[in-house]
Amino acid sequence: MYESWNVQPPSIPERSRLYQLEPIGLGTPSVESLISYVSRLAEAYCVPTGLLIVNEIAPLMKAEYTFGDKEGGLDRIFANQTRALNGMGNWSKSLVQALESLTLRTNLRSLTMLPWAEVIPQKSLLKPTRAWCPNCYGDSQIAEQPLYEPLLWSFSCVEVCLHHQQPLHSLCPTCQKPNRPLAWLSRPGYCSKCREWLGSYRKLEAAQSWEITESAWAWHAWVANNIGDLTASASREPITPSREAIALTLAGYARTLFEGNISAFSRWLGLGRVQTHRWVTGESAPELKTLLKICFRLEVPLLKIFNQAIANTCLAKEAKQPLEQTKVASSSSLNLQVEEVSKQIRQMKAALTEDPPPSLAKVAERLGYRRTTTLYYYASDMCHAISAKHTEYQKVVELKNIRCALEAVIANDVCPPPSLQKVAQSISTSVHTLKKHFPELCCSISSRYASYLSECRVKRIQLLKEEIRQVAAKLEDQGIEPTASRVSLYLNKPRSILQKEAKAALKEVRYELGWGK
Ligand SMILES: [Zn+2]
Ligand SMILES: [Zn+2]
Repeated sequence: MYESWNVQPPSIPERSRLYQLEPIGLGTPSVESLISYVSRLAEAYCVPTGLLIVNEIAPLMKAEYTFGDKEGGLDRIFANQTRALNGMGNWSKSLVQALESLTLRTNLRSLTMLPWAEVIPQKSLLKPTRAWCPNCYGDSQIAEQPLYEPLLWSFSCVEVCLHHQQPLHSLCPTCQKPNRPLAWLSRPGYCSKCREWLGSYRKLEAAQSWEITESAWAWHAWVANNIGDLTASASREPITPSREAIALTLAGYARTLFEGNISAFSRWLGLGRVQTHRWVTGESAPELKTLLKICFRLEVPLLKIFNQAIANTCLAKEAKQPLEQTKVASSSSLNLQVEEVSKQIRQMKAALTEDPPPSLAKVAERLGYRRTTTLYYYASDMCHAISAKHTEYQKVVELKNIRCALEAVIANDVCPPPSLQKVAQSISTSVHTLKKHFPELCCSISSRYASYLSECRVKRIQLLKEEIRQVAAKLEDQGIEPTASRVSLYLNKPRSILQKEAKAALKEVRYELGWGK
């Protein structure tokens, strides 16, 4: 019996020193930031975030980081530069390592910008203070979901919440103070200075009262969407292109669009010529915001530029050439682009023979552009031709619609019939346009209205005559002479006695009553 006992000690998996808290939103544009992760970890232990860092984490980051539980410890370690913890430098690297060894998690790099360290310059990348969307906090609270801060909010150039279409906030509504990205009392959803709630439960409509022009919103949305794509792909351990490969790709665009004329390219981008030259030659790398501006103008998503750059590198490797000499890479990618452009031009030509002729905006949309500017750069003549044809067509359609409307007005025998002015208003055009294109129809509408008016006049005069007759008879009964001024006092419209027909009627009555001479 004893032989069947297993006397081997059971294998116990390695225990982590801190909770294996799961990061929120991995692989999505709203992935949590590393600072948010640390704050939530501290919240789980019900200790101030600073205390957790100073006691547990900092000593693993560097042996000298031993400041006990003093609040000043955080400042002595990070010297007011805590934003770097979400970034791509040594601090975020060592914080990731420390946290991974404490929690035994393996994917915490993707809560920072570390995966993009090779390709995006660090300068001005992250905000110096904390930013948040109060409604996102409010919604999470109502839905009883954990409060956290997306990495997206910490980027300098992300200024809006796409979900709530409002600007991110950076001042506490209670104490009116900004928060550092990481502070002793950092806690998602709460001010690290006064500890008050930063969220809002306002209805979405109230938040939408924020006024922003369409073009400004297009830019903000482009930035947030593209950075969201970037942070979402971080968890898939992205292959990143080198900065030289990106320079080469930009140079490819300058060649395709402007035959390599950097001045023209920089003017089109709305960026400095000298700077553009440095980016295109790889002397320096554009900051994220600038790179996004370039992508926005090219209407090419940031990740697509990265992929094109990677493709360039692969082609260069196949050709066993250093990247600087990638004639093969650049010319074949150039060929690809030229091919794509000529395919688009063929489609534009086809649009010219379409019936009904489409608008240029429609053609641009079909080719995957939000605006028509790029098409104008490729083939301005064709664009003008497409526009002209569509305008011509629209005019014909419009006139046809107007004719139908006029014919309907004539066929409809309503009383009172409308004047030409009224008809023009009702179909949102001018009397001038109507008379110019449809003189006969206008004539028939006008004459019908004129005869209606004269009928009205006859009736009105008849009524006036009767009224005068009655008033005069009444005055006569009272023994008062029915003079024009006396009669007028009793009329509905006293001034109507001045009319020629009224005078004649009064004269007639006076004669009948024996007052006339
Ligand atoms: Zn929001
Ligand atoms: Zn506050």
